[in-house]
Amino acid sequence: MAVSRRGFLAGCLSAGALSLAGCGSTPPLHRQRWYLFGTLVDVTLAHPDAARVALAMRELSALLRDLHHNLHAWKPGRLMEVNNAIARGESTVVSPGMQALVSDLQDYHRRSGGIFNPALGELIALWGFHDDLMPSGAPPARQRIDRLLAEAPSPLDLQLQDGVLSSRNPHVQLDLGGYGKGYALDAGMRVLQGLGIHDAILNAGGDLNAAGSRYGRAWRVGIRHPQGRGALAWLETAGSEAVYTSGDYERYREYDGQRYAHIIDPRNGMPVQDIVSATVIHRDGARADAAATALSVAGSAHWQAVAEALDMSQVMVVNRTGRIEVTRAMAQRLTPGELGGRQLVVV
Ligand code: AMP
Ligand code: MG
Repeated sequence: MAVSRRGFLAGCLSAGALSLAGCGSTPPLHRQRWYLFGTLVDVTLAHPDAARVALAMRELSALLRDLHHNLHAWKPGRLMEVNNAIARGESTVVSPGMQALVSDLQDYHRRSGGIFNPALGELIALWGFHDDLMPSGAPPARQRIDRLLAEAPSPLDLQLQDGVLSSRNPHVQLDLGGYGKGYALDAGMRVLQGLGIHDAILNAGGDLNAAGSRYGRAWRVGIRHPQGRGALAWLETAGSEAVYTSGDYERYREYDGQRYAHIIDPRNGMPVQDIVSATVIHRDGARADAAATALSVAGSAHWQAVAEALDMSQVMVVNRTGRIEVTRAMAQRLTPGELGGRQLVVV
């Protein structure tokens, strides 16, 4: 997955900015930080048993490393093997986990009206985002974009039968950059729950899954300001929740004074222009991740319809003019941060 510039904002959990002691927490909070999925993953566990925590950290680390490796879009791992098989026109046996993942991607693609398209690997690579470094130089030629669009890769080209995956379209190349973090953090939370740890935050560069509380006090998390450095707004998580943000500021190519974001509109093959940041709160991290990406593509005129189709009721969207729109359900959750005198417009 990609290198993210998205900041980590989680109140007292803010990336090293504030010490835990500064938060006045007497019982211990246990923290670890790993570089995975192209970003810093900050793990915070609230549990009194240090031995249990140590075990949990080991298991979590192993799981996330495995998923990082096997879901990577452009480095060797299981996903690359699957993509290579598809490109050769071959079918391949996939694990039950991968089967469920593919079905989920298809469901999300369908419900988003096609704008969440995790089969666009060739196009994402053409734009230069299959690289640890940010791309530079001129954008790809229109002709090359059109040639890839004409192949119309879609997750619906994939077929699953008795655990065997095949594709009607050899140009399908799965890229889970818009979904994989949520998928991984959901799995991470399940591991923690299985070990009896019910109070945690897994934060991958600002995309996070939260569970429980820190010894009875709600986890407080921030939503990054797309143009600034601080938090646009704050919220307290309740129970198990995921908060995911997609933004054009995370990864982009800059050329001739123009910014080309890493989120691509499958309808025209171009980076999104209109929405600069989309945030959702949902119980499921993978779905929240996919939805935040889809809403970025949907644009100002359509995001509400897409949010409804994806069952997302808590949404905040910032567009290029700086207008901040929130659903009623989201507005109830937020404490405004650095709004710079702007209002949250409840829609
Ligand atoms: P996110 O930060 O979750 O919005 O994910 C952005 C990443 O998703 C990009 O770096 C691409 O790997 C991938 N991506 C880009 N455009 C799309 C799209 N229209 N649908 C699904 N994934 C996309
Ligand atoms: Mg996403």
